[in-house]
Amino acid sequence: MPNGEGSCRGLVLRSTDLGDHDKLLTVLTAERGKLTICAKGAHSLKSKYMPVSQQFIYGDYTFREKGEGRWLKDGSIVESFFAVRAELTRLAAASYLMAVAEVLALEEEPDPELLRLSLNSLHLLTADKYPVAQIKAVFELAAVSGAGFAPDLVFCSDCGKKTPYPAAFDLAGGVVYCADCLKKREQAAQFGEGREEYTALTSLTPGVTDALRHILSGAGNPFAFRLPEEELRQLSGICERYLLFQLDISFKTLDFYHEVTSS
Ligand SMILES: [Zn+2]
Repeated sequence: MPNGEGSCRGLVLRSTDLGDHDKLLTVLTAERGKLTICAKGAHSLKSKYMPVSQQFIYGDYTFREKGEGRWLKDGSIVESFFAVRAELTRLAAASYLMAVAEVLALEEEPDPELLRLSLNSLHLLTADKYPVAQIKAVFELAAVSGAGFAPDLVFCSDCGKKTPYPAAFDLAGGVVYCADCLKKREQAAQFGEGREEYTALTSLTPGVTDALRHILSGAGNPFAFRLPEEELRQLSGICERYLLFQLDISFKTLDFYHEVTSS
């Protein structure tokens, strides 16, 4: 366990009240993964720690470190994504993405990809270039895939043949089926076999398939694609359900996102 002084550049995923005066920061860093740092007195408007102790701040932090405890010594803002707070949908999406990053990030495990994805997503949420649903979908699929849960969208899971456009995507298994194999599965299900996995099956349009593969390809900007509204809605549902199936947890921040976007 490190003792003495430490420093990091990182993104505040969460800032939790610790008693009446202090805050506990959950910071995503490139070199050390997720770190928690106690910011003494950060509640006070007069505290020098207050500005750097907010969610969505990307900053440089120095801290005293003893065992697993860290206490903030100094901090400066590199970039603030506070602008996401200007609009409720964007704020809800950003809060949810931070919660997902917190679940996926591990302590003392470098994860520069997750940090980059989180920063890029926040950056785009403060701009008007892509729909919020698209930013959220790209983050969900890229983040969960980066954590080792990448689906195979190329080869049919049953017959092993390459499928240019799969007939169905199994969100639980992370695999696809060609039209022939899907038909066989549907027939089998009528006789009571494999009914369980049926709820995780979703159909894919060519447009949605291309978008999913683009996000997974790792080539170029994963956010850069256009889909008609209806297909974007499908993509959004698929990426969200895929993440939830793979991680098998629920997010209050996601419920809130749905509350504010369904009205
Ligand atoms: Zn097949």
